[in-house]
Amino acid sequence: MSTKHFNRPAAGDVVDGESGLPDRDKFLGRATKEAVHELGHTFGLEHCTDSKCVMHFSNGLADTDYKQAVFCGQCKPKLIQ
Ligand SMILES: [Zn+2]
Ligand SMILES: [Zn+2]
Repeated sequence: MSTKHFNRPAAGDVVDGESGLPDRDKFLGRATKEAVHELGHTFGLEHCTDSKCVMHFSNGLADTDYKQAVFCGQCKPKLIQ
């Protein structure tokens, strides 16, 4: 009996290989984005409508993979204040 199926990605996860990145890099990228996102909240930022902005709310891993680990032109000035 295999327990492998317990480790299957959740529904909505991107298919492996789609980004061309190894899983470890993908995981690190997600972890970095979530950490920066939470840091943004700590500094008083709210969710951003720019889907590429790190403060964009992720509905799933696909959103997290799409956005970047940086603040957009609207969020960055608020952070520096
Ligand atoms: Zn948030
Ligand atoms: Zn933003």
